[in-house]
Amino acid sequence: MPFCPKCRYEYTPEIVECPDCGSKLVAELPPESEQSSDGVNWVKLVALANDAQVQLTKGLLESSGIPVVVMPPIITWTGIYRPGTESDQSIYVPSSRAKEARRILARGGKG
Ligand SMILES: [Zn+2]
Repeated sequence: MPFCPKCRYEYTPEIVECPDCGSKLVAELPPESEQSSDGVNWVKLVALANDAQVQLTKGLLESSGIPVVVMPPIITWTGIYRPGTESDQSIYVPSSRAKEARRILARGGKG
């Protein structure tokens, strides 16, 4: 099943572009540091188990103009293997903005 790398939505196989954001769909949700079809090199910024924290972090970054992709926990039914904790959602940002994103989190992500 194809996924939108931005929205994380899963679509039926005949769909090639995300109807929501126009991104080209990918066969799998992008792993760490893989260049996606839109030319953005996404890197994993942080993994969070708490959904509220995920939303907070996402909002913090997006309010600073940094695009954010949240990856769901491991999806076993598609056979995707991801090492690490299975309950965590991972927050990805473009590698060009990763430094900035870490700075924002260090400054405002506490509490
Ligand atoms: Zn989309």
